[in-house]
Amino acid sequence: MEKFYLTTPIYYVNGQPSIGHAYTNITADIIARYQRMIGNEVFFMTGTDENSQKNVEAAEKAGRADDIQGYLDEMSALWQQSFDTLGLTHDRFIRTTEADHKKAVEKFWQAVDAKGDIYKGEYQGLYCTGCEAFVTESELVEGKCQIHKRAPESIKEENYFFKLSNYRQALLDHIEKNPDFIMPKSRRNEVVSYIDKFMTDISITRQSMKWGIPAPGDANQRIYVWFDALINYLTGVGYGTDDQRFEKWWPANLHLVGKDIIKFHCALWPAMLMSAGLPLPKQVLAHGFFTIDGEKMSKSLGNVIDPLPIVQDYGNDALRFFLMREIRLGEDGDFSLSRLAERYDGELANELGNLVHRVLSMTEKYFEGEIPERAEQTAKAEAMKNYQANMDEFRLPDALEAVWKIVREANQFIELKKPWVLAKNEDLHELSDTMYLSLETLRVLAWLINPFMPETAVKILTKLGLDPGTEFAQDYFSGLTWGKLAPGGKIDKGEALFPRREE
Ligand SMILES: [Zn+2]
Repeated sequence: MEKFYLTTPIYYVNGQPSIGHAYTNITADIIARYQRMIGNEVFFMTGTDENSQKNVEAAEKAGRADDIQGYLDEMSALWQQSFDTLGLTHDRFIRTTEADHKKAVEKFWQAVDAKGDIYKGEYQGLYCTGCEAFVTESELVEGKCQIHKRAPESIKEENYFFKLSNYRQALLDHIEKNPDFIMPKSRRNEVVSYIDKFMTDISITRQSMKWGIPAPGDANQRIYVWFDALINYLTGVGYGTDDQRFEKWWPANLHLVGKDIIKFHCALWPAMLMSAGLPLPKQVLAHGFFTIDGEKMSKSLGNVIDPLPIVQDYGNDALRFFLMREIRLGEDGDFSLSRLAERYDGELANELGNLVHRVLSMTEKYFEGEIPERAEQTAKAEAMKNYQANMDEFRLPDALEAVWKIVREANQFIELKKPWVLAKNEDLHELSDTMYLSLETLRVLAWLINPFMPETAVKILTKLGLDPGTEFAQDYFSGLTWGKLAPGGKIDKGEALFPRREE
């Protein structure tokens, strides 16, 4: 058993979770469920980033200037509820206003300071409060931040700086020696070019802020939100509070991030860790952004989609399935409710739902609901290998495609074998083989779709007369051994997996 530590970004609480946030966390949840299924010990963490000036502005706007912490508590609880409704299985929901995080940040600061990487200097330049980042003229288009379409503020103050530029060569070496550090590979060039040409020392405190963690030894300065936020990945596994736990879990196996924050995770963060003398995370995987019906999703356009009503209409599994089918992980994509409806009707109801329904109906009809004798053939080995290789390397849509190939072949197999003809001709041996193979395929499918559609996996096993708890308690590799379904068991057809939707 290996350990697998997986994180998502932590989120500002100046708004509610959108379908974009749901996509990030559902992706992470699928990876976490798969890692648990193959027997690894998983720690999966998500949470909220609460020391940002943006949160303070949102609290003020909501008339809560006197009660910022109360506002943060409420908003953070809302995110937690939303993630719970989405059925996510993170092991910790971290908040950067928690006391153990403050301890971790202080310890980290002291380590970097002891290394001689913190110095006092004057910061003069541009700052985008949308990005919570210092920006340079070269990054602006018509004087505005490209992401937030607003002009940055001009700032001049005395701050503490981190000697980020000291780590230029070490970062470039690390990226070259670890070709899988940044994924997808197509993003590596932009990070390398930034480190090589643009990366400078950065200011890691702010004088004017009244919210955030005070700089150790200088109460007039608050720590820059990114410098504090990144450290959450250490706090979550005991840095500064529980050395044994920290030793066990760090470094992280995977940081899942959006493409907009890849530079923070592949330049600033590893440099911070090098400075503090800590090992680097194994991989950073950046997903793309998606548009909504071809348009950029933004608050100002008013097309931000709340995932919860979708889940109410279609269920969690259908949303998870759709996001993985529709959007190539690592690339940009488009989200559309009409495409969701199409995939639900076509792939879930007609393909998977119908497969399960017809196999169980025929088992009822020809074998009185009893699983027939074992067929001799072994099968699906190639598809299962393909699935696993893709899951191991986080190519989730390819893994799901491999599963869907099995679904389609299983439907074709029935068309080809025509159990209704076999029954009419009383070819019982062939009929028994056909039905056993089909039923066993459903059991294998339940395993393979489990990370993607956990509720559906449980339903399929229950219909096969198996106890999902017992089935999934098995070791993955023995659970997937072909022919495990015991003849003589009673199936339970029950209701349709994906009922037809009302128009
Ligand atoms: Zn911005």
